[in-house]
Amino acid sequence: MLRYLESKPASAEIFRMVIQKMAEWGCAFTPVHYTVVYEYVSGINPPLIEAVNGLLKKSSSLVGEDLEKVFVKYVVPDYVLPLNEYRGSLSRQLQSILQNISSSTTLTAQEAERVKNGMESYSHSLQEEGLDEKTFRTLVDAVLKDTLSIRESSSSLNAELVKNQKKIDHLQDELRVAREEAMIDPLTGILNRRGLSAKINDLLREGKFFGTPCALLMVDIDHFKKINDSYGHIIGDKAIVAVSKVLRGSVGENVAVGRVGGEEFAVFSPKTSPEEGVALGERLRQNIMKIEITNPSTRQKISTMTVSIGIDSVPFSREWEGMFERADKALYASKSSGRNKVTRWTPETPDIKDSKNPSKTNP
Ligand code: GH3
Ligand code: MG
Ligand code: MG
Repeated sequence: MLRYLESKPASAEIFRMVIQKMAEWGCAFTPVHYTVVYEYVSGINPPLIEAVNGLLKKSSSLVGEDLEKVFVKYVVPDYVLPLNEYRGSLSRQLQSILQNISSSTTLTAQEAERVKNGMESYSHSLQEEGLDEKTFRTLVDAVLKDTLSIRESSSSLNAELVKNQKKIDHLQDELRVAREEAMIDPLTGILNRRGLSAKINDLLREGKFFGTPCALLMVDIDHFKKINDSYGHIIGDKAIVAVSKVLRGSVGENVAVGRVGGEEFAVFSPKTSPEEGVALGERLRQNIMKIEITNPSTRQKISTMTVSIGIDSVPFSREWEGMFERADKALYASKSSGRNKVTRWTPETPDIKDSKNPSKTNP
């Protein structure tokens, strides 16, 4: 789930390499370019690496517009968009860090250029005939002075890098918290829709379970509106939290559980055949029926809850989003055939748009 897992020493090393590559590829020091180069250097994003390598084949320097396209395609989908609320402040912090580094780098580069030109002219002078001792001494003094100056300039760049490394570490901690917060549903503490997609994408990126069957279960509380109407929203919220706990507690760590709507959940279970998916759905359905919603004042049980479930199971691939659509149609079939049911999608499952509204009356 976390994107930037590097330890501090490793991140310091990556940071240096990023700055070096940005200079080498002629990138402007903007947060977007920094992120693309960071993901390239740290090796965490193979499709991005492939895309950047493709650009480097065409030219040794990278055009801002191309980098921005890479950023939008390979970094944005589950990374920056969730951070909308934080993006402004994080960007500003990173921009200021990059400007510091950029100006020190420019100063060092200018100094290096000046010294290089000086050295070349001293070298020419040395080749002249009839060099007297005084001129020779002057040249030696000039070389010494320039050597000291370049040493000083590069050590001040180094100091600047060390100082900014600390700020970057801090920024990365903030980024991690922001990212986690943006992926979690505040009511239930489980993933939200975005978090669930990110988790599935992470599994895909890691190459885990690729090609093996996986199941997606859509779970929707039956007649939930009645719970709200009869007992109020606070009890309704409690019921949603209780369902999320049962779902999360009924499956292992590899299974992603998210709240994808008001009273709707999705469960992504890797390495799960269609039959296993149905068995899992049955288990979840029965566990949820055991939930007891009690009146806080009388402590008496006030309601039984049921859920309808739709399942799709296919080999895990980049086209995983289609599973949501098919599981949704299967869920709709569970609702139309009386609720409190588990249905697996098959090609015969009717399209939602072709179906009539499922009955809202009690089964
Ligand atoms: P069905 O069996 O067809 O799913 O019927 P339903 O009543 O469960 O479904 P419907 O979509 O008609 O109503 C869902 C209700 O869930 C409507 C909305 O007020 C309520 N709801 C959505 N989010 C929340 C929430 O966060 N808290 C509470 N308490 N209620 C919510
Ligand atoms: Mg419902
Ligand atoms: Mg619903």
